[in-house]
Amino acid sequence: MMKAALIHGPGDIRLETINIPVIQDDEILVKVHVCGICGTDVHSFKVGYPSMSTEPVIPGHEFSGEVVEVGSTVNGLSVGDRVVGTGLRDCGKCYWCENKIGFCPNPTVPGEGLDGAIAEYVVVPKPVLGVLLFNIPEGISWEEAATIEPMSVSCYAVEEARMKEEGTVVVLGAGVIGLGVLQACKAKGASKVIVSEPSGMRREMARRLGADIVLNPSEVDPVEAVMEATSGHMAGVVFECSGVPSAFMQAPLMIQPFGKIMQVGIYEKNLELHADLMKLMFQFRNATIRGCGGQRWDKALEFMQAGKIRTKDLVTHVFPLQDVRKAFDTQMKSDEAIKVLVKLV
Ligand SMILES: [Zn+2]
Ligand SMILES: [Zn+2]
Repeated sequence: MMKAALIHGPGDIRLETINIPVIQDDEILVKVHVCGICGTDVHSFKVGYPSMSTEPVIPGHEFSGEVVEVGSTVNGLSVGDRVVGTGLRDCGKCYWCENKIGFCPNPTVPGEGLDGAIAEYVVVPKPVLGVLLFNIPEGISWEEAATIEPMSVSCYAVEEARMKEEGTVVVLGAGVIGLGVLQACKAKGASKVIVSEPSGMRREMARRLGADIVLNPSEVDPVEAVMEATSGHMAGVVFECSGVPSAFMQAPLMIQPFGKIMQVGIYEKNLELHADLMKLMFQFRNATIRGCGGQRWDKALEFMQAGKIRTKDLVTHVFPLQDVRKAFDTQMKSDEAIKVLVKLV
């Protein structure tokens, strides 16, 4: 038997004792050491169930752990390996899966259709080493390792932006992902990174992690601030990492002609795009708006090992599993918490 956290309804997360999952031939069983709480977990906690399921599910996909059982058809992994990774399962039925293109648009992921890792054990399906599963490098603690997943999301957005060096970029929202984007932009040579964030604590962190200009959108007009900071040239890339509709509206006003808006944040509220703004984006600025739902584990590992991305300070709270409820409540307070981890071992 094992202890696990299950989301049963809005604000209703329970600690339960359930069976340790049994693995298939193409799966491994991981003993979870640490699991971070992601924005998507918080969303599931708020609305009751994850978007892809209709029954209680174990949240959590940002885990670090130790391999305790390896399925017979799995290559390259042994019991005792320290690992991080994504436990997503492709649907196996769609055009992309059948033609082995490698990008299934309908995967199930831990915490959303598959049981996640806020539990003593988690199953990782099809753990392809170097693609979906990685050994934790020496010198990276279990806690830090649990932050590699969100950093891989930040790194994906920054890689896909293909920004020119020496450019100015704007990061809207300094949560974990935004703070990862900030550091990855700096690591790739961005000359000026401007961060907009309403929480004082998060602004302070952005400053500490190398932001050149940090502004409070509740006090100053962020668009004007970007104009001033760039002598009117505006930014080449805006990373929208807040998931707040008003921030999205600012992004097209901040970019240069042919600029890019990298959409990383996920919205809980609808976006209302006005005709004027669309005309500006598509006719006058030739904007590219790019959705960024992907991961670059290789880059996250590289930058973290080189000390170019630091996540130790982002971890503001660590709770044991029995305090999982408190852990979720804390993760929702953006003025107190940046990244909350649940420690299983
Ligand atoms: Zn996440
Ligand atoms: Zn598929």
